[in-house]
Amino acid sequence: MNILMGDLMPKIAGFNKLTLLDYPGKLACVLFTKGCNFGCRYCQNSSLVLDVEVPLIDHNEIFAYLEKRKNILQGVVISGGEPTIQKGLLDFIIKIKEIGYKVKLDTNGSNPKLLQELIELKLVDYVAMDIKNVFEKYNQTANAKVNIDNVKKSIDILKKGKVDYEFRTTIIKEYHTLEDIRKLIDFTQGSKYYLQNFEDRDTVIKSGLTSFTVEDLNLLYSYKESYDHFEIRGYTEKGGRKNV
Ligand code: SF4
Repeated sequence: MNILMGDLMPKIAGFNKLTLLDYPGKLACVLFTKGCNFGCRYCQNSSLVLDVEVPLIDHNEIFAYLEKRKNILQGVVISGGEPTIQKGLLDFIIKIKEIGYKVKLDTNGSNPKLLQELIELKLVDYVAMDIKNVFEKYNQTANAKVNIDNVKKSIDILKKGKVDYEFRTTIIKEYHTLEDIRKLIDFTQGSKYYLQNFEDRDTVIKSGLTSFTVEDLNLLYSYKESYDHFEIRGYTEKGGRKNV
């Protein structure tokens, strides 16, 4: 087993000990890493992304919990922030896998090299990757200077299908037109693709951004006549809110 040392350990700043929603088909827990190389103003985890002091969670506490729950929980979701900027992530996941868990990685796709390595070493079982917007609007949407080539490489790696995966986009009126979304639906053909309507909450970096209306969502659902690979998370096909 690899030994995790000092600052080579991923910084975990959030721990949801039980979720039925974050890992498809699995009872799981979620670990939230601190820090992100993007700065999406609509980010729901502002305390993880902004440069604010948040207490880090002791890895001993995490692994004690994972050991104790190994016959009940099936998966561990590693989310953030952006997990792939964390030093020691690979060794950290090895330790989780050694206990017997399935691992889901949430990523913005900015680190294709590590993504490839994790897939080749069979250290991840499911990857959910954000596609922030059409590429020409990426920097604006992510509020960062994004290396688009890296994002494209990550998309290509996942499309090879060596690991179960999904693409997802949080849609916000200020950043996405309906035509942008239609292009994204078209671009993601052949993959599972989820649209997530933005929800303004206390935890977002910049409040006051706008969700899509039920009428907009109904229009998006009408694209299912041509595309059957996408869903709008949390909404029924008639635009009603699902209780999930
Ligand atoms: S990439 Fe994800 S974690 Fe990072 S700022 Fe954007 S929404 Fe937040």
